[in-house]
Amino acid sequence: MLHIVACIKQVPDTKIIKMNPKTNTMDRASAPAILNPYDAHAVEEAVRLKKRYGGTVSVLTMGPPPAVKAIKKCIEIGADEGYMISDRAFAGADTLATSYALTKAIEKISKIKPVDLIICGKMTIDGDTGQVGPGIARRLDMPPLTSVNMVKEINMEEGYAVVHRKLEDGYEVIQSTMPCLMSVEKEINEVPYSSMTNMLKAARYQPIIWAVADLEDVERTQLGLKGSPTIVSKVWAPTKPSGGEMLEGDAAKQTEQLLNILLEKKELFAAVKGGDGS
Ligand SMILES: Cc1cc2nc3c(=O)[nH]c(=O)nc-3n(C[C@H](O)[C@H](O)[C@H](O)COP(=O)(O)OP(=O)(O)OC[C@H]3O[C@@H](n4cnc5c(N)ncnc54)[C@H](O)[C@@H]3O)c2cc1C
Repeated sequence: MLHIVACIKQVPDTKIIKMNPKTNTMDRASAPAILNPYDAHAVEEAVRLKKRYGGTVSVLTMGPPPAVKAIKKCIEIGADEGYMISDRAFAGADTLATSYALTKAIEKISKIKPVDLIICGKMTIDGDTGQVGPGIARRLDMPPLTSVNMVKEINMEEGYAVVHRKLEDGYEVIQSTMPCLMSVEKEINEVPYSSMTNMLKAARYQPIIWAVADLEDVERTQLGLKGSPTIVSKVWAPTKPSGGEMLEGDAAKQTEQLLNILLEKKELFAAVKGGDGS
């Protein structure tokens, strides 16, 4: 039976987060924490594959204790088990240290139940790098299938998966050996409203939480800030665009205003360049 691990992260809602004007960093307390939207699609895809082929969906997160809420959200979507690695030693991790810690957790999960497929979101909305998925795949020596927007087939007997990968001008069809890791695009599926049964299950659900000491063969120097060679050398806020004007009223009024502005510009253009400006 297929065992899928979906990696998920709790993130601040960047649609409403405020920036600290002095440090130019996110004021995480100014926005509610949500399940990274891309990861909701990763979990939904795992649940759909479970329905198609049978099996189990486990979700995994590295984060502080409140991240339990994100795991509960995944149980609402239809995941069966939730694992969280949480320890001060993980704090300050960059993508290298994050992928290392998650790999160690996946190795432990595999001992409980062998893992056939790992699904990640394309990226997070706070870190935005898209590096964690391929990082895990590299460490576990699995093929990384990025930008997946359709899982065409999983063949457990013959041990392969066929997916569509999004390209700039279309898509390509890839066949990969399994186990493998997929990073999925948002358009891979739509996440429906959760059923009442799953919501009730999620409310009662308590994930399995591991600290560093619970993981095996961990090199502590590769965790958290110590294991993070990334240096943020400069942080700045983009300058707000100046000029322009807001059009008021309903669509018809706005269209009229826009037309007037364009006609004015056309006359100006004609006056400078000669001709009728058309
Ligand atoms: C020097 C430095 C210090 C940092 N300190 C902190 C800190 O203290 N706290 C903090 O929150 N961030 C910190 N960060 C940000 C941190 O690097 C990223 O949040 C983290 O490595 C994940 O990268 P990302 O968000 O770009 O994920 P991406 O690579 O964009 O994520 C892709 C996918 O990987 C999976 N994934 C990513 N992160 C996790 C996770 N934690 N658990 C499970 N699955 C995951 C998800 O499926 C996600 O969709 C720090 C960064 C740097 C450079």
